[in-house]
Amino acid sequence: MQYDVHIIGGGLAGSEAAWQLARRGLKVRLSEMRGAGDRSPAHQTDQLAELVCSNSFRSDDDTSNAVGLLHHEMRALDSLVMAAAAKARVPAGSALAVDRDVFSAQVEAALAGLPNLTVVRERIDTLPAAGLTIVATGPLTAESLAGSIGRATGAESLAFFDAIAPIVYRDSIDMDVAWMASRWDKGAEASFEMGGDGRDYINCPMTREQYAEFHAGLMAGEKTEFKEWEANTPYFDGCMPIEVMASRGVETLRFGPMKPVGLDNPHWATEEHPNGRWPYAVVQLRQDNKLGTLWNMVGFQTKLKHAEQVRLFRTIPGLENAEFARLGGLHRNTFLNSPTLLDRQLRLKSAPHIRFAGQITGCEGYVESSAVGLIAGLMTACELAGTDWQAPPATTALGALLSHITGDAEADSYQPMNVNFGLFPPLHDVKKKARKAAYTDRAKADLSDWKQAATL
Ligand SMILES: Cc1cc2nc3c(=O)[nH]c(=O)nc-3n(C[C@H](O)[C@H](O)[C@H](O)COP(=O)(O)OP(=O)(O)OC[C@H]3O[C@@H](n4cnc5c(N)ncnc54)[C@H](O)[C@@H]3O)c2cc1C
Repeated sequence: MQYDVHIIGGGLAGSEAAWQLARRGLKVRLSEMRGAGDRSPAHQTDQLAELVCSNSFRSDDDTSNAVGLLHHEMRALDSLVMAAAAKARVPAGSALAVDRDVFSAQVEAALAGLPNLTVVRERIDTLPAAGLTIVATGPLTAESLAGSIGRATGAESLAFFDAIAPIVYRDSIDMDVAWMASRWDKGAEASFEMGGDGRDYINCPMTREQYAEFHAGLMAGEKTEFKEWEANTPYFDGCMPIEVMASRGVETLRFGPMKPVGLDNPHWATEEHPNGRWPYAVVQLRQDNKLGTLWNMVGFQTKLKHAEQVRLFRTIPGLENAEFARLGGLHRNTFLNSPTLLDRQLRLKSAPHIRFAGQITGCEGYVESSAVGLIAGLMTACELAGTDWQAPPATTALGALLSHITGDAEADSYQPMNVNFGLFPPLHDVKKKARKAAYTDRAKADLSDWKQAATL
């Protein structure tokens, strides 16, 4: 059968994209390497849409939780993943957890019922030179294809490791303790060009005693172990976990990411030192999205356990009440620098017949990967129908995630991201307590309007 679209990868994103296309009458070839003698180090079965780790799609609360809202929006767009999850659901409080075998079987059965869809068990080793293609090969894309993607995009644009530093919500940082400044006030010109005021970093100051305690906490903190196949992939200096750096000597961090030089703390100003003094050590945060709602802890990639990160990082002055949009981590993950490489429709700028979907675009998580697969399917259907693609508004979870991936994230520090309210255009005039519900209400109304107006 000749096909309209070739989807590579029958994971969450690829299966969802295939569903969206084939049920619209388009002819789809879905290539999946499992079942043809290949398997990623994390997959255990040959089933489509296998959940490689936890069995949870996280919170199903669609009234005040960003991922629950994403569930709602996907359901409104007839998501196969959400429908299969409903059938495979197991009790898990307000979370949407599933029996993973039932879930995958549901996905396979639904896809098998689509006459336009052909699932082929085969590994694809190079990016197709022509024909509409969706690449949804995930964080553990087979090496040969990753090489081909690297050649097409420039290997430096393809990361093989998540070296994730925590991200903090801006409005949870205590600016009576922290302050805005750039080291030596450098880079003011570039900052002005970007609309900044020359003070681009949030700085959290530490005294000698506070630093000593923090260092001891890092050394004692419980760490997550590397999986065997991750341990064999060496990390390079640029993404060394903070606790590994700390283990090299008490002072190492003060000459690395916690360097205080050139950072006068105005909160410590005296008559003698009207600009303030340098702290003993500093934790710096850098803006992570264009909205300025999310701030990345610079150089703080870590393998500390999540609860330990929250406890320890809240001892940093200014971060006592920090709320984290994402915690740190380090694991193998192939993903593109999407804000640079992809256009607003997830197409490779240098080869627009190729669209990417799922975690390889730099979203993070089962739900987000499926959501980007869904959107990639809709975009491709529009392209084939010759209709204009109208993106979901940035006020919706789908729109916010898509905007982040395709241009709104800072390209220099681009790292995989879960959906969270920090990606949404802020509602400053709503009281903090009521904000999550307000984001959700706005998103639902806007999605409904968009769905009516867009040709999908
Ligand atoms: C070890 C690990 C644990 C994770 N745990 C969680 C978790 O607990 N919760 C969570 O929300 N997220 C988790 N994630 C993140 C992410 O959500 C999942 O990886 C998710 O499955 C990504 O969906 P995807 O469709 O992009 O990729 P995948 O689901 O991995 O699908 C990609 C598919 O492409 C196939 N493939 C790869 N290369 C080729 C090729 N060359 N030719 C043909 N087929 C190919 C693969 O076999 C696979 O079926 C985890 C990731 C990893 C790596």
